[in-house]
Amino acid sequence: VFSRIRGQERALALLKRAVTGDRAAQSYLFHGPEGVGKFTTALYFGMALNCHAAPELRPCGTCPSCRKFLALTHPDLLYHFPSPNMEFTTDGESKAKNREKLLQEYQGFLDNRRKTPWREYRFSANCEIRIDVIRWLEHRVSISVHEGRCKVVIMEAAENLNTNAANAFLKTLEEPPPDTVIILTSSRPDALLPTILSRCQRVAFRLPPRRVVEEELIRLGSLDALAVKTYARIAGGNLEKALQLAENGDLEVRGDVLEFLEIVVSQDDVAFLAFLQKKFASKAQAALLEFLTHLFVLIADIGLYKNLPGEIANIDRTKLFDLCYRKRIDLDEEIVDILNAVEEIRRRVEGNVSPQLAVIRLYHVLGARFGLR
Ligand SMILES: [Zn+2]
Repeated sequence: VFSRIRGQERALALLKRAVTGDRAAQSYLFHGPEGVGKFTTALYFGMALNCHAAPELRPCGTCPSCRKFLALTHPDLLYHFPSPNMEFTTDGESKAKNREKLLQEYQGFLDNRRKTPWREYRFSANCEIRIDVIRWLEHRVSISVHEGRCKVVIMEAAENLNTNAANAFLKTLEEPPPDTVIILTSSRPDALLPTILSRCQRVAFRLPPRRVVEEELIRLGSLDALAVKTYARIAGGNLEKALQLAENGDLEVRGDVLEFLEIVVSQDDVAFLAFLQKKFASKAQAALLEFLTHLFVLIADIGLYKNLPGEIANIDRTKLFDLCYRKRIDLDEEIVDILNAVEEIRRRVEGNVSPQLAVIRLYHVLGARFGLR
């Protein structure tokens, strides 16, 4: 089951040794960029520590214990994550006034984690890990193991422990309860208390190479080669982001970006105004940011096209790229400047410049480089 996690060979080797040698540390910190599998690895590690299969086969993923872990219902799995204030009692009951709604969201988060963990899930209120959660946790780990070999605490995005909670949690780490393995995950370990860091064995996660992301996208079986290259490029090494792109099928945005570049190259003002009306009359900031991300990849491709044609994502658009080079033969040397200009426009959009104005500016900035007029 560990082999489902891609591009983290070093972290996995360390954890497998802990499982087969039956000597897990008391507490771990899994740290590294977002979307690379820290939570999934923590879950599989907890599974392995309780799996009924032979040591070298753990976690098997099919025994009753593993299945409960995968469903997040194992009584010895204590999974905590940043959430709105539920005002938990030590019995795990919520005293919050709007608890119906909060509990629904809480359940929604867990469902998402089980079935579609690559999807982003947003709570409606401010999220933290609060002291009531830590008190409940302390209570839970103080009672003996229910049915597994050890209790597994997963504290996800641990940088969201607020100050009170972090101080209380430190006590748990200092006097670790027996038969308990604590795993913190964080993409910002610098935001954790040094005293917490020093109590944990650190396990580093890295951005997997683009090849690994491409392989994962190909395995989905639903994408053409072009989409695979484009999404892998946009996602960097963030597998979650790549799967989100694959799921949302952003080919429409890509089509818009190509149409836009064609209009820029032809400097057809009438076509541009029609495009602006059709695509950005009512579109919000988020849509334009998505558009800019795809545009960024497309322009980067134009730069690669001349020197590394095998690397480009938009393999079917070389005619258009040839057109771009018609005006400036050494265009590839200007690509970094152009990308900086696009980034500058992105910053303005994030700073709430109207999307329409930003697209008009984009048309002029790019027209000065690519426009054949
Ligand atoms: Zn198992």
